[in-house]
Amino acid sequence: MNRVALVTGSSRGIGRGIANALAKLGFNVIINYAGNAEAAAQTAEQCIESAGSEGKSITAEVFKADISNSDDRRRLIEFTYDRFNRLDLLVNNAGVAPRPRADILEANEESFDRMIHINLKGPYFLTQSAANKMIEHLHNPPANPPYNPKIITISSVSAYAASVNRGDYCITKSGLSMLTQLFAARLSEFGIGVFEIRPGIIATDMTAPVKERYDKLIAEGLYPIKRWGTPDDVGRAVCAVADDLLPFSTGEVINVDGGFHMRTL
Ligand code: NAP
Repeated sequence: MNRVALVTGSSRGIGRGIANALAKLGFNVIINYAGNAEAAAQTAEQCIESAGSEGKSITAEVFKADISNSDDRRRLIEFTYDRFNRLDLLVNNAGVAPRPRADILEANEESFDRMIHINLKGPYFLTQSAANKMIEHLHNPPANPPYNPKIITISSVSAYAASVNRGDYCITKSGLSMLTQLFAARLSEFGIGVFEIRPGIIATDMTAPVKERYDKLIAEGLYPIKRWGTPDDVGRAVCAVADDLLPFSTGEVINVDGGFHMRTL
């Protein structure tokens, strides 16, 4: 039996990069998506190939669930346990950007509610459900491979960088930082490590509409490592946690941002 990872929003973008990286490590992966079944199926195929390239054999399952919906979240966790009877790693990755971006003096409540439901409430209660199942399982842990469950949440530099044209997005990402602190504090007694990964500017469908603007900013030195980040950059950071390379850490923030978070003079 392989270890099992559930990656929300892994049909495309960063989630796909994370699923591929975990498949290379030999995780069975559950690829969650909201609507794009074709992309999710492609991720599943890629995961099996990625694992094969490392001489590993894994299972990749696809499951449609809107993480802002409580019934869907329950079905997603049930599916995970029906299919694999264990969950070693939850990666809260699914998230959306406001459409369109709007100045905070004009942005509307509809966009705010959408951001909160998908980007914050969804991961918060999915984490609660997954944590309870993990705790239950720790009373009678599977022997092989050893059970050492973890939770990772993908936030953003928007957790602390104020962008006045997408205030609702920033607020949800800053909430995810507190989500990580809260669950890290609550779950440490069970040995469940909880981590936040804070990506910078990563090339995905989400950032495609602002590509030219960011190309220019990066070239002008917005941050020290002058290139776009990739989904694989984030996937590798997830693997460091998943593979137990940070055993004396929890509630930790891992910046995957080309050095954007540094103050320089
Ligand atoms: P993306 O390319 O737009 O992909 C979004 C993924 O989330 C897709 O798989 C989508 O599924 C899924 N999704 C959307 N709404 C969902 C819902 N309600 N329930 C379940 N899944 C849902 O975005 P991305 O750039 O990879 O971003 C992934 C995460 O990283 C987000 O949380 C984002 O805020 C964060 N992030 C991104 C960047 C960046 O520069 N790209 C930087 C920092 C943080 P479908 O394919 O079915 O639509």
